[in-house]
Amino acid sequence: MAKKTKYVYFFGSGKAEGAAEMKGLLGGKGANLAEMTNIGLPVPPGFTASTEVCTYFYKHNRTYPKTLKAEVEAALAKVEKAMGMKFGDPKNPLLVSVRSGARASMPGMMDTVLNLGLNNETVQGLVTKTNNERFVYDSYRRFVQMYGDVVLGLKPVHKDDIDPFEAIIEQKKKERGVHLDTELSADDLKDLIVRFKSAVKERTGYDFPENPMDQLWGAVGAVFGSWMNDRAIAYRKLYDIPEWWGTAVNVQTMVFGNMGEDSGTGVGFTRDPATGEDVFYGEYLMNAQGEDVVAGIRTPLPIAQMAQQNPKIYAQLEKIRKILEKHYREMMDIEFTIQQGKLYMLQCRVGKRTAFAEIKIAVDMVQEQLITDREALLRTHPDQLNQLLRPIFDLKEKEATTKAGRLLAKGLNAGPGAATGRVVFNAHDAEVWAKRGEHVILTRIETSPEDIKGMDAADGILTARGGMTSHAALVARQMGKVCVAGCSALDIDYSTHTMKVNGQVVKEGDWISIDGTTGEVLNGKVNTRPSEVLQVMIEKTLDPKDAPVYQVFETIMKWSDKYRRLKIRTNADLPDQSANAVAFGAQGIGLCRTEHMFFGEGKIGPMREMILSDTVEERKAALMKLLPLQRKDFVGIFEVMNGRPVTIRTIDPPLHEFVPHEEPAQRELAQQMGISYEKVKQRVDSLHEFNPMLGFRGCRLGIIYPEITEMQSRAIFEAAAEVKKRGVPVEPEVMIPLVGHVKELQHQALIVRRVAEEVMKEQGVKFPYLVGTMIEIPRGAITADEIAGVAEFFSFGTNDLTQTILGVSRDDAGRFLIPYVEKEIYPKDPFEVIDRGGVGAMMKIAVEKGRGTRPTLKIGICGEHGGDPSSVEFCHIVGLNYVSCSPFRVPIARLAAARAALLNDKPAAKSKRGASKRAKKTSKRKATRKR
Ligand code: PEP
Ligand code: MG
Repeated sequence: MAKKTKYVYFFGSGKAEGAAEMKGLLGGKGANLAEMTNIGLPVPPGFTASTEVCTYFYKHNRTYPKTLKAEVEAALAKVEKAMGMKFGDPKNPLLVSVRSGARASMPGMMDTVLNLGLNNETVQGLVTKTNNERFVYDSYRRFVQMYGDVVLGLKPVHKDDIDPFEAIIEQKKKERGVHLDTELSADDLKDLIVRFKSAVKERTGYDFPENPMDQLWGAVGAVFGSWMNDRAIAYRKLYDIPEWWGTAVNVQTMVFGNMGEDSGTGVGFTRDPATGEDVFYGEYLMNAQGEDVVAGIRTPLPIAQMAQQNPKIYAQLEKIRKILEKHYREMMDIEFTIQQGKLYMLQCRVGKRTAFAEIKIAVDMVQEQLITDREALLRTHPDQLNQLLRPIFDLKEKEATTKAGRLLAKGLNAGPGAATGRVVFNAHDAEVWAKRGEHVILTRIETSPEDIKGMDAADGILTARGGMTSHAALVARQMGKVCVAGCSALDIDYSTHTMKVNGQVVKEGDWISIDGTTGEVLNGKVNTRPSEVLQVMIEKTLDPKDAPVYQVFETIMKWSDKYRRLKIRTNADLPDQSANAVAFGAQGIGLCRTEHMFFGEGKIGPMREMILSDTVEERKAALMKLLPLQRKDFVGIFEVMNGRPVTIRTIDPPLHEFVPHEEPAQRELAQQMGISYEKVKQRVDSLHEFNPMLGFRGCRLGIIYPEITEMQSRAIFEAAAEVKKRGVPVEPEVMIPLVGHVKELQHQALIVRRVAEEVMKEQGVKFPYLVGTMIEIPRGAITADEIAGVAEFFSFGTNDLTQTILGVSRDDAGRFLIPYVEKEIYPKDPFEVIDRGGVGAMMKIAVEKGRGTRPTLKIGICGEHGGDPSSVEFCHIVGLNYVSCSPFRVPIARLAAARAALLNDKPAAKSKRGASKRAKKTSKRKATRKR
């Protein structure tokens, strides 16, 4: 008989059926509750219904496996036993929380119900037991409110509406003439419960459920159901979380942080999530429940204050922080509750952090011998490096703004970086405005998970309430958004779309600037400046010694270079772009698009003359004017590249791209060329093509007009000779585009090689050079064995290769490719991430065939994919020699290449613990060597 599937896993009394490795089955929360129980931390007992229940639930029309009921009842009985309490018992009632917990954390996206098990009977038992009527009715009130919202669906209808339960509370406070929830008495709370329940009846037609078991199944269903709510779906899309993972549901004994002044609740990180510093970082509130902290309803106190207020608990937390870091070898995020002086751990998971903190923690942990440098690289996502390159405000301008009295207020520095944009007051507007190209700062009293899309669309996020771990702060940090949270000076009025700040009024659409590194909010626009890394590497205005962000960045780059096998080149057409790329670590130029140069100073005129020439003589005359200009450009590039290989591509785009299409510009050109307007017009019209991307472009131009290739080769080699004579080494590589047939390449290579020999002879200087081709149309890839007989290198032009293999125009794809990705026809935009199954398969064939003919064939990629981490990994897997990307993506590609090597090369993945031991050994060895 097949083994029965186990759906429910108990944890409690120091032993758990699950463990940290079981995240796939138990979700992150469930697995870590089990792990914490097993390592002896104080965790309230409970059980986890696995993600397989969720999968079953959706496969079977929202029903459960038959055995689930019995398993839940058995686990509940174990919890009752561990606690010495009974679920639904009028005298000694066990109360539970019901929470979601997916494999990856999805903060606030799914539903939670707390204090479940309370009804008009059990509430009496709790009053007798705690002798604290106000606390009990407050818990009951919270339960009905949460259950009403989550399970019974009483939510705001319109985006500017307030929550229906909050409306009832506000009404009650008004009636009682009080301002704070805490000023409501037990009797007020009782009345609120009655009003809440009648609101439920009125809106749903049903009575609020009294039976605790009904409540439990209602909550379990709602939590599983919330896996498919809009915000969870949007979040999954954003973070590539597959739908089939499903969520687990955790049912856990309630402990109360709102049982008086010796109770409390808090959240924390084992290191500072913004800076990565090795300090205990967190916030807490006494006499409060967890939701108050996370939802940002009350602004909590910094955890350091607990060291004075409650040194015993603080010491215990410090100890737990160390245990957790040593055990998990990670920065952890924790949630805890203190119930009448006793500490309970409610959650731990790997903590979200800023890109900088991520990298700093990884680097520090290598130094602390907790992890190896390999692990540090695998923990650092290449995209996060991007955030280290983010802009900051121009300090002088900011100072001037502050002096001019435009510093509006200061909040918490929740998401570093600088953002300037126009104020919008709801997430929907943020999306709409951003779509039409506006920069926006989403400004909210507090954000909620519904706001996720608007937050993503905004340049920055500003909230009036909430702490560093509020929803806005957490999500912004994860997204890498600039965020200032808890800026209490903001008096926001959603209905008029305005806010008052210290006597000034800011309206929707006004410009503001927020500094997520300092928490400042400034009125108006403030220009931004490059990040610290850019100031050191590109602008060279900052000393690396004074740049801690740069130092960490550089360490990661150094380690990346140690492990990567792919070389990293850049796509650059100008000397300054090339210099930037070299500063970022580029080892050569993988693509210099010569046609971009034709738009430079003084070049477009002769270029147009060349295109519009009637005879070969005229064309040659125009080309002679271009020759010195092109040569000058190449000299500049060769000098900057200082002996690094430079791949220069001969002219590629269709010629019509260079000529004017409007009458006034055509008339002007006619005058310049001394020919009639009609002639210019007729010549321009004759360049018209129905499908220019598949038309007269690429090597076809050089074959029909060989004098162009001749001129370009001469410019390249004369520049090489000139630079070489100055004592600077050069390594030009001439690349012929859009080759589909070996004869095309033969034709062009003959010209290039002849000119190279001529120039070397004329100039009396020798330099190495290569002639190669782009592989960017399918016939080129399929006949790569023939082409490699002529080509000394290949470079995949994956922009065109994607276009031609998929039969999708790269210029017209937006309209349907975005919906395609939404419909998951392609998992990602194939122009951004290599389509491994199609384009990738063709690349593999070309590599194999090319190297079959010429085993030493150098192969790279210069399409946009060269800077995309997943595509870089693919290039590593298929054995390319280098990737080439835009200068600012070079650091990302360096790290991506190292990760590709670590993930794909043998020896394969080693066990975590083994790796840690090895880390200790290696660093010990190094330390000895140093001494
Ligand atoms: C390519 O096609 O990938 C390429 C690099 O060339 P271009 O984008 O200039 O067509
Ligand atoms: Mg191309």
